[in-house]
Amino acid sequence: MILKIVMLFLVFMAVLAMFGKLRVPGIGKVGLKKPKKCKSCGRYLFSDDPCSCKSRKG
Ligand SMILES: [Zn+2]
Repeated sequence: MILKIVMLFLVFMAVLAMFGKLRVPGIGKVGLKKPKKCKSCGRYLFSDDPCSCKSRKG
């Protein structure tokens, strides 16, 4: 019984940590983060790193 409560608490904390990482701007606006698109080649960028087409010149 107590083990079950501890497990639920851990899951709850994990969910909170995930939402903290995502940084949802508004509670009413819950949704997936819109993927950024490269302005040069149109490829979807899943991280804040610049597209590989920008790193190499030409
Ligand atoms: Zn690109």
